[in-house]
Amino acid sequence: MNSDAQKPHVAVLGGGPCGLYAARVLSRAGIAVTVLDKGDRPGGLATSHKRGENWYDLGCHMLHEFDKEIYEDMMSIMGSDSIPVQLDARIRWAGAFYRYPLQFQDMIRGIPIATLIYYTMGLFAAQFRNMLAPWIPKNAEQALIMLYGRPLYEFFFKDFTHRYWGIHPSELSATFITTKMPRLSAVDVIKRALGKVGVKDRGVKAVESALLDETLHYSRTGAEAMPRHIARVVNDSGGKVILGAEVTRILLDDSGTRVRGVCYRKDGTDHEIACDECISTIPVPHLATRCEPLPPDAVLEAARQIRYKPIAIYGLLVKKQRCIDALYIYYRDRAFHRVGEPKNAGLTVNPPDHTVLIVETTCEIGDDKWKGTDEVKQRIFSDLEHENICRREDIVEVNILHSETGYPIFALGFEPHLDKVKRWISSITNLQSVGRQGGFTYPNMHSAMRMGACAAEAAMARLNKKGASPAS
Ligand SMILES: Cc1cc2nc3c(=O)[nH]c(=O)nc-3n(C[C@H](O)[C@H](O)[C@H](O)COP(=O)(O)OP(=O)(O)OC[C@H]3O[C@@H](n4cnc5c(N)ncnc54)[C@H](O)[C@@H]3O)c2cc1C
Repeated sequence: MNSDAQKPHVAVLGGGPCGLYAARVLSRAGIAVTVLDKGDRPGGLATSHKRGENWYDLGCHMLHEFDKEIYEDMMSIMGSDSIPVQLDARIRWAGAFYRYPLQFQDMIRGIPIATLIYYTMGLFAAQFRNMLAPWIPKNAEQALIMLYGRPLYEFFFKDFTHRYWGIHPSELSATFITTKMPRLSAVDVIKRALGKVGVKDRGVKAVESALLDETLHYSRTGAEAMPRHIARVVNDSGGKVILGAEVTRILLDDSGTRVRGVCYRKDGTDHEIACDECISTIPVPHLATRCEPLPPDAVLEAARQIRYKPIAIYGLLVKKQRCIDALYIYYRDRAFHRVGEPKNAGLTVNPPDHTVLIVETTCEIGDDKWKGTDEVKQRIFSDLEHENICRREDIVEVNILHSETGYPIFALGFEPHLDKVKRWISSITNLQSVGRQGGFTYPNMHSAMRMGACAAEAAMARLNKKGASPAS
């Protein structure tokens, strides 16, 4: 029990959307909760950072409305700080712009008929093969071919996937496709047509993507407003959100089956808190290697095999009213894979006749993109010029933001390693590892928040079973 009387206390490791929302649910129910986050702002990946007079998102982040309960809660918490925005995204592909998500009618308009027939034939061939002899893809390359056919794979997915991850699709797991790859609605239309003539889709399923007619939510200060408001209501309900607090050790009891406390370092000083339940949203290998005592060697070895792809986000201040005709645009063959202009979603920019671009790249820690060498900047500026987004002389500020754990890497054969670590974590009865980093998954913000809510409810159910009464 928490030293302060007989009140149950939950430690939440990580204050991104998942951890913050877990704390929101717990503090609303009167449970004492402490969120520890190493960052200087709440929100994890889903925040923005102020540089000079402007806010720059760590990758453009807008809330989807899909989870009604969470959405309504967020609207009541954020009030007028939330701005509804119509989804308006594009894909730059083969010299043309397509709406995102990709629409069948756009595709027909943009792609020469011969090419379209070639892709459709490829899709037919893939479908017939799946129907006649169902097969299980061994890697992401095979899963993409099974899903979209070889011609579309070769044309659209192969190079892009390779450049994005720095890993050839044949070395990525098929699970990657089912959990990360957005579904091409154009392909769905063809598949529906095939279904009508009796050709059923028995292949792997790609993840549902954004909807064409969708309202997203943003703010005048970018992504940072939502996590800031959640942290505020957690604090107002008696919880604590401690920033600049790096979790260094997770202390297990003598039996090794319960977390009894957590150590963190803040401003160079070590602190320890006791807890009855622990919800971890920090990267799953970091959790395993910071437990005391350490897990068995086989689990530690498995944890070492679990990797993340870092991201370097270039936040540019540009002397131009508007650069792109969308909220964001995906690119296949540039130094960046997405460029967002958050001013088009309501971001306040100073001075007002300037705009902010969020240029997203994947990288390795310490490489040229991570460091932002002159050569990389010039490549980005040149690609922006080629795409008629802005001229290099109009770029007046470059701010580089990083995350070491931007994307979980579903490398070939990662599943048994992850299973081994997760199985060990589940042997600790009051510990849950959830969210994007802790679950090693690809949720959007609302799904990460739902994971946090579910973890909070599971923790409360256990605390209730033990007969502990909530903090007053
Ligand atoms: C480029 C990009 C764009 C995206 N755009 C959108 C979008 O528009 N809409 C959307 O819904 N989703 C979007 N997402 C997904 C969104 O970022 C995630 O769903 C969300 O951030 C997951 O929340 P989380 O709390 O699980 O993880 P995170 O946000 O990663 O939070 C984990 C937290 O743990 C903390 N932490 C790690 N180690 C420690 C430690 N040792 N001690 C203390 N704290 C620690 C980190 O500081 C971080 O705050 C995007 C993701 C990316 C990469």
